[in-house]
Amino acid sequence: MAVAADNEKPHAVFLPFPAQGHMKGLMKLAKLLHHKGFFITFVNTEFNQNRFIKTTGPDSLSALPDFQFKTIPDGLPPSDADATQNVALLGGSVRRNFLTMFRNLLKELNDRSTNSKNPPVTCIVGDGVMPFTITAAQELGIPVAVFWTFPACGYMGFYQFRALLDKGYTPLKDARQQTNEYLETEIDWIPGMKNIRLKDLPNFFRTTDALNDDIFNLAMESAHKALEASACAIQTFDALEPDVLDALSSMFSHVYTIGPLQLLLNNVKDEEKDQLDSLGYSLWKEELGCLQWLDSKEPESVVYVNFGSVTVMSQQQLVEFAWGLANSNHYFLWIIRPDLVTGESAMLPPEFVTSTKEKGLIAGWCPQEEVLNHPSVGGFLTHSGWNSTIESLSAGVPMMCWPFFGDQQTICRYACNEWEVGMEIDNDVKREEIQIRVRDLMGGEKGKRMKKAAMEWKELAEKATGPHGSSSLNLEKLVNVLLSKT
Ligand code: UDP
Repeated sequence: MAVAADNEKPHAVFLPFPAQGHMKGLMKLAKLLHHKGFFITFVNTEFNQNRFIKTTGPDSLSALPDFQFKTIPDGLPPSDADATQNVALLGGSVRRNFLTMFRNLLKELNDRSTNSKNPPVTCIVGDGVMPFTITAAQELGIPVAVFWTFPACGYMGFYQFRALLDKGYTPLKDARQQTNEYLETEIDWIPGMKNIRLKDLPNFFRTTDALNDDIFNLAMESAHKALEASACAIQTFDALEPDVLDALSSMFSHVYTIGPLQLLLNNVKDEEKDQLDSLGYSLWKEELGCLQWLDSKEPESVVYVNFGSVTVMSQQQLVEFAWGLANSNHYFLWIIRPDLVTGESAMLPPEFVTSTKEKGLIAGWCPQEEVLNHPSVGGFLTHSGWNSTIESLSAGVPMMCWPFFGDQQTICRYACNEWEVGMEIDNDVKREEIQIRVRDLMGGEKGKRMKKAAMEWKELAEKATGPHGSSSLNLEKLVNVLLSKT
């Protein structure tokens, strides 16, 4: 595309679901579209924007004149300024309040009498779970892409929520079915998904009150509303999930696999890369000392432990993880967010802290992708968030999976059974299991097989994002959709 003056550029407005993983995924896609010549408006909630500025500094958002940030309120009562917000409350607000606030912002962006800084809005890229962005684009008569920060198997799982309702699998008869043998029920009717049990589907269907459950309904509505979008982009690559992708593509024609986004971004070179890099992603301050600590360790000798931005656990689970890591006798880098333990601050046993002084490093947040790509990291104990998983696959790092919620159950199943890069940890975590699994992961036969598989996926991911790879070509197609007139 020829270089256009800022006010003549196509103008894409991005709106992520207001949580760390979603913001990071959409920000990467926004950077790629900026590289393709778009003027970008990236919309955060006021709450997240404040956190973002606190972490990355007040100037960090104005690095590029044609990449601006705007905010909308989240409609929630005030909460702890440095902790993840309640996802169910956010889901409710997304369903009831966000369309109006987003409409107002679009109006402001298109008001030529007060706003000459940006060109008129020509397209919208909404998070898959922000379905009202499609409505807003339809009202303006402009193209809209939804972007799923989930894998295709996660999206397909959400898409089946209506069928689960129609077939009587949900609502559950009582709360015991959230954890008992009911979840072992085999599900053999989902297109493109084999060897799936109820427990492998995104766990938001495990509700006893489907009618009033905001997250269940948001997931179900979003998955179906996506059919009305001009494009449905997914952060995955063709070789990783061929069966589900075939099934999705036969259900609707506008599916574009465009992952891993980071590998596509790595193709952007020179000065623009530095400018784009200066736009960070983190809502917590990254502790760079982690990288220096890793520098002092042997290749593939460190287990990296991180449960992402939303997962919480009990104090007892924290203690089991701690002793499991200590007893494995391997080096570990463990990221413990200040809000990781439910209702209290994480308290590690003092004997654990003393006895692992030489073996472990604990930090509050880290630059995860740099950590995963550090040669000293040999394995990843993860909650199976999709960003974390695709980042790990891109770095060729095998995983131990302790899924928490949402599509993480499905991702864990695929990581362990389909991609053969993961080992599942029981939800009722015990130190003995962690100790054994860490040893398997870091030196056992199973760990070696998983490492080999992870390296093969890394290569396939690189191929997909290379000059003629499927994800690179799909990104071009997505750009064309967004430049088209509806
Ligand atoms: N992340 C990070 N540093 C950390 C922990 C997480 O940069 O210490 C990033 C990570 O790279 C990933 C995102 O936060 O991109 C977490 O997203 P994911 O989908 O894995 O999990 P979620 O936080 O949504 O549960």
